[in-house]
Amino acid sequence: MPVKMLDTTAFRNVINGELTSTAQTRHGINPANKQPNPDVPVSTAAELDLAVTAARAAFKKWSKTSFDERRKAIHAYADTIEANKDALAALLTQEQGKPLSQAMQEIGMALDWARTLPTIELPETVVQDNDDVKTIQRYTPLGVAGAIVPWNYPILLAIGKIIPAIYTGNAVIVKPSPFTPYCDLKLAELAIPHFPPGVFQALSGGDDLGPMITEHPGIDKISFTGSTGTGRRVMASCAKTLKRVTLELGGNDAAIICDDVDIDAVIPQLGILSFLCTSQICMVIKRLYVHENIYDTFRAKFVAFVKALPIGPGTNPDVFFGPIQNSMQYEKAKNLFATIKSENLTAILGGAEIPDSDGYFVSPAIIDNPPEDSRVVREEPFAPILPLLRWSDEEDVVARANGLEYGLGASVWTKDLERGRRIADQLEAGSAWINAHFEVKPFAPFGGHKSSGIGSELGLQGLTQYCNTQTLWIRKA
Ligand code: NAD
Repeated sequence: MPVKMLDTTAFRNVINGELTSTAQTRHGINPANKQPNPDVPVSTAAELDLAVTAARAAFKKWSKTSFDERRKAIHAYADTIEANKDALAALLTQEQGKPLSQAMQEIGMALDWARTLPTIELPETVVQDNDDVKTIQRYTPLGVAGAIVPWNYPILLAIGKIIPAIYTGNAVIVKPSPFTPYCDLKLAELAIPHFPPGVFQALSGGDDLGPMITEHPGIDKISFTGSTGTGRRVMASCAKTLKRVTLELGGNDAAIICDDVDIDAVIPQLGILSFLCTSQICMVIKRLYVHENIYDTFRAKFVAFVKALPIGPGTNPDVFFGPIQNSMQYEKAKNLFATIKSENLTAILGGAEIPDSDGYFVSPAIIDNPPEDSRVVREEPFAPILPLLRWSDEEDVVARANGLEYGLGASVWTKDLERGRRIADQLEAGSAWINAHFEVKPFAPFGGHKSSGIGSELGLQGLTQYCNTQTLWIRKA
C-alpha cells in the first residue's frame, strides 16, 4: 500500500472512512508564541451519532476478523506513522509546545507500543476438561470504545487506547483534548487506508463533546486519561449506561533518595525525571524525598543541574523546557508559584513567569524542605515546581510518600537492592521502581492505585479491558 504523506494545513474529522468538516470550527493556540493554530471541527451530537452508527456497523465485521488480520493492518499503519514521523513531530511541537526532541521520543514510544501490543496473545484457558464437559474461559470484544485523550501526550496516549481497542476487535472513536486536537486527527486520517470505514474514527470538539461521548448509549466502553476530578465525572456519567471504564488519572509521585546513592550519577536522571515535558506528565517525580545525610550536597548539585537546562520554544534544538501547554495551566502554575510567598516557603530556584516572552514560559522552581501540608507538596502541580524534602526515618518517609490520595507511581533510589526492595514493597502505587522512575513498556500493565485510576492499560491486562470475558461450556454427551 503506498505510504500517504501528511498534509498539516487542513484538519477534519474522520467519520466512516471520510474526512468531514463541521458547520462551526475553532482553533488551538501554539503555546510558544500564542499564535492561532489552524481551524479544527467542532463536532455536535449529529456528528457523534454518525460516528457511533458507523462504528456499530463496522464492529459487526471487524470483530469477526482474525487476530492475525488485525495485527497485519496495525503493523502497516505503524509503518505509515513512521513514514510521517518528522511532520507529526513538528505538528506536535506546534500544538503541544514540547521540544522537538521530546516530540520525536513520544512518537518513538508510540511506534513501539503500536508494534508490540499486537504481539501479545489473548489466552483461551481451559478451566475444566473431563469426560462430560469442557469449560473454556475466553475473551470477546466489547463493541465501540470511546478514547478520551489529554493534552500532554496526545499521540502516545491516543495510540495506547486505539491499538488495544482495534487489536482486540473493537471499533474506536477518539476524542482529543480541545487544546491539542491536531496530531490525533492526523493519526485517524493516516489510518483511513488501513482499516475498514468506521473501525477507527476521530472527532474534534469543544468542552461539551467529552460528556456527549460518555453519555452516548451506543458506546460500550470509555478509556479516559485526564485529571482525577474529570475522572470522577466520567465514571458517574458512564454509570448511567453501565459502560465499562478505564480511568488513568492524576498523580503526585514521590521519589525516595537514600543516603548511599552516587549523587553525581543520579542527579541528571532525577533532574530529567522531575522536569521532562515542563513537568506536565502524570508520573514525573513531583516530590523528592532526600535523606538528611546527603541533603545539603544533593540540593546544591541538583539546583545547579536544573538551572543549566535551557528554556525556550520547542523548535530551538537545544531547549529542554518548552512552554506550559495552555493559558489555563499557565495561570495555575503562577497561582502555585505565588504560594512561595503566601506560605512563606524557601525557593532555592526561581519559579516565575518569564517577562517579555511570547509564549507561556515559566522558569522552574525548587522549594527547600516545605511543610508536608503546603500546597506544593499536596497538589499535583503539572508545572515545573518541585519540593525537595528531608527525611531520616524509613518508616516515616514511606508514610509521607503514601500520604496522599494519589497512587500512580513512586520510586526508591539506593545501591542496596535489598533496602530498595523493602521500601518499594511498601509503596502504594500502580508502578513502583527501584533506581528508576517513569518506566513504561507496552508489555507491562500500567495504572493507578487509589484516586490515580481504575483498571489498567497496556500488557495483557490492558488488552482484556477492551473485552468481555466469556465462559464457554461444552457438554460432550
Ligand atoms: P482533563 O481531565 O481536563 O481532560 C482530559 C480529557 O477529558 C480532555 O480530552 C477533555 O476534553 C476531556 N473532558 C473534560 N471534561 C470531560 C467530561 N466531563 N467528560 C468527558 N470528557 C471530559 O485533563 P488534562 O488537563 O487534559 O490532563 C492533565 C491531567 O491528566 C493531569 O491530572 C494528569 O496527571 C492526568 N494524566 C494522567 C495520565 C495517566 O495515565 N494516569 C496520563 C496523562 C495525564
